Amino acid sequence: MAKHPVPKKRMSSAKSGHRYAAFKQKKYRALKGFVNVVKCDACGAPRLNQFACKACGTFRGRSVEKAGAAKTADKVVKVKA
Ligand SMILES: [Zn+2]
Repeated sequence: MAKHPVPKKRMSSAKSGHRYAAFKQKKYRALKGFVNVVKCDACGAPRLNQFACKACGTFRGRSVEKAGAAKTADKVVKVKA
């Protein structure tokens, strides 16, 4: 015998989806006032303001993707050695 509450019936995926959609929308509304999402000038994808674009790796018309990638590669090499 179970000593904890057990659901009587299986919940449908549609019902779970509806609940998740409501949760997502609530979180989105809560975050809307804190983060500033703008459109990327280079590729048009949504990106955080004052941050490099994650889709194309540019910031203010310059490519900043390669500098970050080199730093992470150095760190990995040090950890392995
Ligand atoms: Zn972009």
